[in-house]
Amino acid sequence: MELYELSAKETAEGVKSKKFSAEDATRACLDRIDKFDAKVNALITLTAEDAIAKARAVDEKISKGEETGPLAGVPYLAKDNFCTSGVRTTCSSKILEAWVPTYNASAINYMNDSGAVLLGKTNLDEFAMGSSTENSIIGPTKNPRDMNRVPGGSSGGSAASVAAGYAPLALGTDTGGSVRQPAAFCGVQGMKPSYGQVSRYGIIAYASSLDQVSPLARTVEDIAVVMESLARPDSHDTTCDAYDRPKFTDAISLEDLKGKRIGVFEGFESSQMDAELYGSLRKAAELCEASGATVEPMDLPIAVKYGVATYYVTALADASSKLACYDGMRYGAHIDGKSLNEMYVNTRTASFGEEVRRRIILGTCLLTEGFYQNYYGPALKVRQKMVDEFDELFEKFDAYILPTSPSLPYLLGMKETDPNRLYLGDIFTVPISLGGLPGISLSMGLNGEGLPLSVQLVGQRYFDAELLGIAAVLERAIGRPAVANPGLPGTSNSGKGAA
Ligand code: GLN
Repeated sequence: MELYELSAKETAEGVKSKKFSAEDATRACLDRIDKFDAKVNALITLTAEDAIAKARAVDEKISKGEETGPLAGVPYLAKDNFCTSGVRTTCSSKILEAWVPTYNASAINYMNDSGAVLLGKTNLDEFAMGSSTENSIIGPTKNPRDMNRVPGGSSGGSAASVAAGYAPLALGTDTGGSVRQPAAFCGVQGMKPSYGQVSRYGIIAYASSLDQVSPLARTVEDIAVVMESLARPDSHDTTCDAYDRPKFTDAISLEDLKGKRIGVFEGFESSQMDAELYGSLRKAAELCEASGATVEPMDLPIAVKYGVATYYVTALADASSKLACYDGMRYGAHIDGKSLNEMYVNTRTASFGEEVRRRIILGTCLLTEGFYQNYYGPALKVRQKMVDEFDELFEKFDAYILPTSPSLPYLLGMKETDPNRLYLGDIFTVPISLGGLPGISLSMGLNGEGLPLSVQLVGQRYFDAELLGIAAVLERAIGRPAVANPGLPGTSNSGKGAA
């Protein structure tokens, strides 16, 4: 195995036991970026020099026998909506194109403390609004498993990077599916933790009542390892709960699913979703049963019918108030005008992209007298109804299996012109976000054309560790995703197909 193919856990072990150095591991990943990123376009900013310096510092500590963290020498990438001190953080927007934060997001500090090596910042849909990573100041990211297709979004740069072997780990954010769906499209593992599990401090907000820092990796074990570094109370973020987290890495040693009650989603006409993905659901159900679980069909009538509408009302209202801080004065771009008002209009019109402007206008409208009573208020009530629906189901099930996305990765440019089609693709991810539940997109191998298949595992709020345990059992049966060689014929199709 090449160094870039190793998992984070294997890399950390190799560095610690001096089989290879942190600098070797870092250079192996930087070489991959150098080889492929001109075409894949997953990175907005590369921090190669800082990365080498950090890797050397790790190597020095190890040679002196000093204590290092659990991710010492492990290269990783972070979505470009994580504040990084001294490194520009664009959010893929013209408004922040030249903005350099003076502090790190808590998640970046935690990764740093664990010894991980930041290689750079990844592409996203502007302000994390989207599902295809096509709306970006640097242009679209391509799916490393099929370069004509989108990588999903909005954390498409992070998912593509992990699939292409740029790094074993990447951080993204998931508000309504932005890590789970790109993980599914790129054929890697991605987890949105329970809301309140990981600090949001220093994450550029999209919708604060839903945003959650979320890791991507090629193994479930790596997700557990990184969760152990990320999930902790933070006095900077009052929505990050102050409770003792379980040991995520212990949970994944679960041997089988005996005694587990798993619900498999059947509340959707199979004709309304991709047949192969429907097959993946059935396959996952069989694997659960074979591992000793009791498997039963389940449905989410409220969530499926009202989830997308409820989510977009909630998220856009959140977004319109959060994005008010980009006023041409405090952060980023500034375009003069004859009056204060004209300056606001000039700056915001020229510096936000079309989708972001659409969402700010809709969100602002939703919060005005009349619309608030007719839309925002009811959306909050439906959100509660969904939580009740989930709670009732958890009396019967420990976890359930849903699709992550109703479709396979689609061709670049296909949905760009029709926002409604894009929004409907979020049908299975947004209800989980509205419920604050943990969700894992688990790779189910590749289909005959080399396109990734997946399912989504969903658990009870704060039962993230238990959910990782179930995912680990299934991953052992399916096989972990292989690294793709973007654009090289035949090579991205390696990996075991399970459906
Ligand atoms: N696709 C969804 C949206 O556009 C989710 C985005 C996200 O999770 N950041 O809002």
